[in-house]
Amino acid sequence: MSLANLDESPNWDASLFVGVVPGLAASISTKKKRQILRALRDALRNVWRIKDLRTRRFGIYQILALTVFDIDNPGKFWPFSSAPLDLREPSPLEHFLAYLMQPRVRPKVCKLPECQRPYYFAIKPRQQYCSRPCGRIAVNRSQAKWWDRTGSVRRERRRKKMEKEKIKARYSLGL
Ligand SMILES: [Zn+2]
Repeated sequence: MSLANLDESPNWDASLFVGVVPGLAASISTKKKRQILRALRDALRNVWRIKDLRTRRFGIYQILALTVFDIDNPGKFWPFSSAPLDLREPSPLEHFLAYLMQPRVRPKVCKLPECQRPYYFAIKPRQQYCSRPCGRIAVNRSQAKWWDRTGSVRRERRRKKMEKEKIKARYSLGL
């Protein structure tokens, strides 16, 4: 808000925005700081005026991208320049990416190694498998493993017990 509302006076305190605006390091000159802030302010104002949500979002993406990747070189594209952004019809990919950006979606990878379509959206936060069939295979597999382990322990126990009984039998026969 205060960034969008920065006036034209040359004396505003650019250091107030250090730590607020990414890329605005305390070490760069005041002149450079002001230059960056002015570009951001104008971009923000350009975005502010846009009624269409999608266009506004693209403006915000641009600001975010530039503040992360190229803060030193703004002014090339809208909303850093005032030439309006002419958007084409949204592609299916864009719709998908917009969906992917929502906070409630849970993109996950199915834990079943041989799953044919492992990339999925989970319905529940702790979901590990993409579908019932994958979940069922995993459950069956872990049960089989459990039986394998338990079974071998039981066989081992039985073997020891039989040995003991054999020894006992020998004793009782006086051998
Ligand atoms: Zn799966």
